Amino acid sequence: MNKIIEVRSLSKSFDNKKALKEISLDISHPGITALLGPSGSGKSTLLRHLSGLVFSDRREGTEVRILGELVQSRGKAAQQVRRCRARAGYIFQQFNLVNRLSVLTNVLIGALSSTAKWRTLTGCFTQEQQQQAMAALDRVGMADYAHQRVSTLSGGQQQRVAIARSLMQKARIIFADEPIASLDPESARNVMELLKDINEREGIPIVVTLHQVDYALKYCQQLVALREGEVFYQGAAADIGEQALTALYSKAPTTAT
Ligand code: ADP
Ligand code: MG
Repeated sequence: MNKIIEVRSLSKSFDNKKALKEISLDISHPGITALLGPSGSGKSTLLRHLSGLVFSDRREGTEVRILGELVQSRGKAAQQVRRCRARAGYIFQQFNLVNRLSVLTNVLIGALSSTAKWRTLTGCFTQEQQQQAMAALDRVGMADYAHQRVSTLSGGQQQRVAIARSLMQKARIIFADEPIASLDPESARNVMELLKDINEREGIPIVVTLHQVDYALKYCQQLVALREGEVFYQGAAADIGEQALTALYSKAPTTAT
């Protein structure tokens, strides 16, 4: 069986500042994995590298595989990124929907990444794609809003539409960067419940950055904790102790035991 995520020696520097330092990870659990860590620890940077949105420092030995497919390496990166993007759904804190378009059109945009001539939008969308988009909206409980403009929706509703877009994309894995950080507690719970349900029923693995530890412990089976660009903990959420969690967010760097 392919591992969900395999990372070997992944590094990234910005202007000589190291954001990721020789990260190595192995995640085989097909559930929800949380990326935790203090602000600036490298969570978003790591997630962007896992999804193939950006390039790593090209070092000898660097290798990132998602569902067995190479997404970062020295040499082949550009070609691989294109292939991976079509398979990875990406959900952002600020939803990244197009405000002036309808909910339905925003979900249909998810079909573009797998359509060869998407740049020209010729032919726009087929009847079948429209049915699939409506089914995706129904799946996230937003079918009734299909013809409304995105700008009329609440934050939680917009995040549901972003999730429907990932489904439309036929994502084989979903990466979500702080998907609940802008939401009130009730909407946050609803979005996490939806991600859990999609993970369990559709079997799509999900990797989510969170700054709320309580949500991570409640909804995620696996944890990866980063501290100053290094892996501080990786393993079952149930196995991380109070002490390690306290140390993770304490000021003086220590290593997890
Ligand atoms: P987190 O998501 O855990 O808050 P980030 O991954 O956003 O952390 O950032 C990790 C470090 O990398 C920070 O020091 C941040 O300032 C730096 N960084 C991230 N993206 C960029 C960028 N595009 N240009 C310069 N520095 C960046
Ligand atoms: Mg971040």
